[in-house]
Amino acid sequence: MNSSGQVLLDRYLKMGRIHPCILLVGPDKAAKLSAAVRMAKSIFCSDKSTGLFCGKCSSCQRIEKEIYPDLLLFKEDNEEALKVENVRDIIYQMEVAPLEGRGKVCIIEEAHRMNSASSNAFLKTLEEPKENRFFILTTTKLGGLLPTLVSRSLLFHFKPESETVQFSAEEWTALEKLLGDFQSTKEVDPVVDFCEEKESALRLLQFLQVALRKQALGESQGGLFASLSPLECTYKYQKTVELEGKLRSNANTGLLVESLMRQEFLK
Ligand SMILES: [Zn+2]
Repeated sequence: MNSSGQVLLDRYLKMGRIHPCILLVGPDKAAKLSAAVRMAKSIFCSDKSTGLFCGKCSSCQRIEKEIYPDLLLFKEDNEEALKVENVRDIIYQMEVAPLEGRGKVCIIEEAHRMNSASSNAFLKTLEEPKENRFFILTTTKLGGLLPTLVSRSLLFHFKPESETVQFSAEEWTALEKLLGDFQSTKEVDPVVDFCEEKESALRLLQFLQVALRKQALGESQGGLFASLSPLECTYKYQKTVELEGKLRSNANTGLLVESLMRQEFLK
């Protein structure tokens, strides 16, 4: 499994500074859990000379066996863990000093199962995150999470690679020109007109995803986003995936385009 979400997450982890709450979103539970575990390895591995983690050191091996003392892992089958009294206990365990010194990681699978009392308890710890404490939440239902919790998290969307879209050279050039014109003129109307049909708006978003992903991975030379750093591209990519989800579920295209502009994708 090597979805775009995984590629971007790996790239993000290589940058070294990790957000205290990472949220992995997408339909594939196994891919998200394996990404969360990879992330824990990248934090605790004692030999990162060859990559994000070695997979061979004592830390990596104990994480694989789910017996690493500074990793709290709550899988989907553990309903009990998400009751408010247990969430408070998780938070307490996360606050006490790590046993092996490198920090602590807590993975909560399918975190939308938390009720509002649990979510609020959890949210409090994110307001004042302690150093080297990392929460990794996964979810298939982003809408089931408290919006404030989502806004305090850094999102990575996991889309199966099979969903990757193709563009003909003509369509690519046309979309690049549409957005290039907007970048230089700041005239929003042609883009809004183009997005009148939902299908066209989706194509535009998919175009942005492909272009941003290429830029984030260093695969494109020049192009619309040449001035952005890989991290900026990663954030913007995630935003376009969120917007695509919203558009597919119900939002009207006018709102979508407004959102595009507001979030300055095309600056
Ligand atoms: Zn290792």
